Amino acid sequence: MALITKAIKGTKDILPKEVHKNQYIESTCIGVGEMYGYKEIRTPVFEHTELFQRGVGDTTDVVQKEMYTFDDKGGRSITLRPEGTAGAVRSFLENGLCNETMPQKVCYLTSCYRYEKPQAGRLREFHQFGVECFGTKSPLADAEIIALAKSVFDTLGIKNLSLEINSIGCPTCRAKYHEALKEYFENRKDELCDTCKDRLERNPMRILDCKSPICSEIAQGAPVVLDFLCDECKEHFDMVKKYLEAQNIEYTVNPKIVRGLDYYTKTVFEFVSNSIGAQGTVCGGGRYDGLVEELGGQSTPSLGFGMGLERLQLLMEAQNCEFPEPTIPDLFIVALGEKATLKAVEIARDMRDEGFTALMDLNQRSLRAQMKYADKLGARFNVVIGDNEVESGIAVLKNMQSGDESEIALATFVSGFYSVSLSSQLDELKINGEEFDFDSLFNVGNEE
Ligand code: ATP
Ligand code: MG
Repeated sequence: MALITKAIKGTKDILPKEVHKNQYIESTCIGVGEMYGYKEIRTPVFEHTELFQRGVGDTTDVVQKEMYTFDDKGGRSITLRPEGTAGAVRSFLENGLCNETMPQKVCYLTSCYRYEKPQAGRLREFHQFGVECFGTKSPLADAEIIALAKSVFDTLGIKNLSLEINSIGCPTCRAKYHEALKEYFENRKDELCDTCKDRLERNPMRILDCKSPICSEIAQGAPVVLDFLCDECKEHFDMVKKYLEAQNIEYTVNPKIVRGLDYYTKTVFEFVSNSIGAQGTVCGGGRYDGLVEELGGQSTPSLGFGMGLERLQLLMEAQNCEFPEPTIPDLFIVALGEKATLKAVEIARDMRDEGFTALMDLNQRSLRAQMKYADKLGARFNVVIGDNEVESGIAVLKNMQSGDESEIALATFVSGFYSVSLSSQLDELKINGEEFDFDSLFNVGNEE
């Protein structure tokens, strides 16, 4: 029984009183994406399991341990998306975006599902802002998506993130690197954790990503991928750095960054914070030049990133970043009796037609109870309508902040509301700035 009143472990409700924060973060992400030419794409929450096995990679933790996979009633193996890239690539191919002019730039806000141990900054259902740029091998694109991620942080007022970049080369230079890594770890194989023993055979680079203290200590002395880059990969990485420098974006090269997904090539990067504890990576991404082909398309060099929105919010809260105030309702109508209620319904509709927020008590309680309710909702103005007001056609509109009262004609309520509300806003400006200099409003940008 108790189960039905408990959310699933690792999931989180977002309540009405705090949702404005999420809305702010989400609209900022999409808005910044737009400034760089990224258009939103929406793909289903579940896909064929095989898409992720191929698209994320069989040797990754995500595929091996973390996926929510089940058979549907038709016996198909289905997986809740653990990340956004594979679905975006599938859609890019299936819907013919791959035949349009390249590059194609898409972005998304998605929920992701991973069976992980829930803790601060680590959930089983979490959310990402992601971008994908399909069809360019230019290092300009690498620098652009990094700049995009940074613009999101800057716009939200987040400080002190360190950008760590690396290049993990192409399949050619990686093969040589894998050999060297294998040789190095083979010598200390017995000390590695069981998972890493297995990684040694399948994908030795993943050992560098292991969080066990012994493995990461051993990894300290491992060969560095940058020493194995071929000329083309080296040149690409140099250009990425140059384009970052041209935008004054600070970075450190961290050869330990290999990223969790299998199909990354060349540039990989993370934005890391030390203000939110162990789960400090807020954004990770890179190039995946081989992925589109792996999923059945033509060779299409591409890249992208995923940004964890819960971690982003934790970070904003830890750094006391400003969130916009939740919006305040414009009007609460206290209606007493059947006639007044009919009038209130009419006025509320007229107000909403003009874009105002108008509320009333659906439970038609007593005057006192309605006043209390109105207080809780915190509308800017209240109006009480009873039989007398309906009869006279005149009611009193009260500014709940200043206490000012003005008469308002019910027949022309909306236009009356406009003028009272506007003049009270002007009053507020006067209070805050003595006599407000209206001329200055119109002279902005006209200075000599
Ligand atoms: P981590 O090393 O923290 O497990 P990851 O490498 O698995 O991260 P990615 O697959 O690159 O993460 O996902 C991109 C971003 O999504 C991460 O940088 C992080 O901000 C966020 N993220 C990943 N897993 C979770 C999770 N379980 N809960 C909350 N956010 C997550
Ligand atoms: Mg992970």
